[in-house]
Amino acid sequence: MKKVTNQLVKQQFPAKHFKLLVVGGGAGGLGAASKFARKLPRGSVGIIEPHEDHYYQPGFTLVGGGLMSLKETTRKQEKLIPSGAKWIRNEVVLFTPTQNMVTLDGGEDISYDYMVVAMGAHLRFDKIKGALEALETPGVCSNYSPFHVEKHYREVMNFQGGNAIYTYPNGPIKCAGAPQKACYITDSILRQREVRENAHMIYATSLDKIFGVENYVKPLEKVAQEKDIDVRTRRNLIEIDTSKNSATFQLLDEDGAATEETEKIEYSLLHIGPPCSAPKALRKSPFADKSGFMDVDDGTLQSNRFPNVFGVGDCMNTPNAKTAASVSSHLKTLDRNLTLAMLGRKPYFKYDGYASCPLVVSKNRVILAEFNSNGTLETTPLNQKKPAYWAFLMKKYLMPALYWNGLIRGYWNGPATIRKFSRLVDSKNRKGIL
Ligand SMILES: Cc1cc2nc3c(=O)[nH]c(=O)nc-3n(C[C@H](O)[C@H](O)[C@H](O)COP(=O)(O)OP(=O)(O)OC[C@H]3O[C@@H](n4cnc5c(N)ncnc54)[C@H](O)[C@@H]3O)c2cc1C
Repeated sequence: MKKVTNQLVKQQFPAKHFKLLVVGGGAGGLGAASKFARKLPRGSVGIIEPHEDHYYQPGFTLVGGGLMSLKETTRKQEKLIPSGAKWIRNEVVLFTPTQNMVTLDGGEDISYDYMVVAMGAHLRFDKIKGALEALETPGVCSNYSPFHVEKHYREVMNFQGGNAIYTYPNGPIKCAGAPQKACYITDSILRQREVRENAHMIYATSLDKIFGVENYVKPLEKVAQEKDIDVRTRRNLIEIDTSKNSATFQLLDEDGAATEETEKIEYSLLHIGPPCSAPKALRKSPFADKSGFMDVDDGTLQSNRFPNVFGVGDCMNTPNAKTAASVSSHLKTLDRNLTLAMLGRKPYFKYDGYASCPLVVSKNRVILAEFNSNGTLETTPLNQKKPAYWAFLMKKYLMPALYWNGLIRGYWNGPATIRKFSRLVDSKNRKGIL
């Protein structure tokens, strides 16, 4: 009886209550918390985030290529929590949305009026047999993990010859361009080190083409061809055997379904593009769809089942590519729609599906891909499909600054306004007005 009473008391009076609870203190969570900490009274916003270090993940590509240090991509979470918001350093293990409540590791409950779920996507090296162990052995690395990204650069600098394989998984992945970016930078370094002729570079992807967005396929095929990279499509890495330095790929059919056929390739260097899934607590929650990602309206970003809950970032089931660039547009939508919800009105602003992937194709050139599911959504009037130095400078200098000073502080809402202006300039140019 006492236990039941305790349970009831715990349910009715959770230790903490927030007007807005944000789950996850990554790009999306910090951006959302910053926006609403400015709007709501002090102490109304709580952020649940377990990690002490916050990483600027888009910088990992440069770290793995020796073009940025890991330190430059890392800041202490406590320095980034917006003033007026409270950081709860823990993780959510259970969502109980029928009671507007989450449970933390350790059993503490926290309740909310509104919630933003911004838990990102988890790296699932464990889905590839032997991958977790292999990452601790020579030759195997991944720019995706802060613990193995510097190893990639070391491996490239020590590489003497053999197969250098870069893989892309069969399923969701954050920054779908990152595995091939790593491959291209490696090519540049090996050429600089004058050992490129000893290398057979393979880009093995589960997709049926080099990149998912049609408009960038030809430019990227050209890059791969010029660099003599062996692009193998419909190949899904399923096993790594470190005793034989062998990577096993399952061959996929035209619909992307697994076949019985496999291919084994010996590696000297193996860079893993890991499959990603929604974090466990989200996967098993009432917010998840069949895939485990958060089921939201892909326009308003509101939970399809619980209207006082919204999503932001990689953890949602929206069809956009999972990028920090998308988060900027999510935040713009969230800002308006969550405010409307708090005012008791129906959210109606729509996310435009924007995503971007600065495809680093060498140590100083970038193809600046910007798109949504309808095709390209480029911001500048310049030719973004051509590898360019200006785009590399944006990737190396402008984008990190935008992230630290704009996105996570809730000031950067994506380039839609700039795009409108630049299109105006462009159309005037074409008409000969300017
Ligand atoms: C190698 C690499 C290269 C990339 N390159 C680019 C690029 O060039 N351009 C670009 O735009 N994007 C790029 N990205 C993608 C970009 O980093 C992500 O899309 C972005 O960080 C997503 O933001 P998010 O807030 O959804 O998730 P994250 O920033 O990953 O944050 C999620 C947070 O949720 C927390 N969390 C997870 N589970 C729980 C829990 N149970 N309870 C509480 N908190 C939890 C995590 O600790 C984490 O801090 C790249 C990513 C990688 C890995």
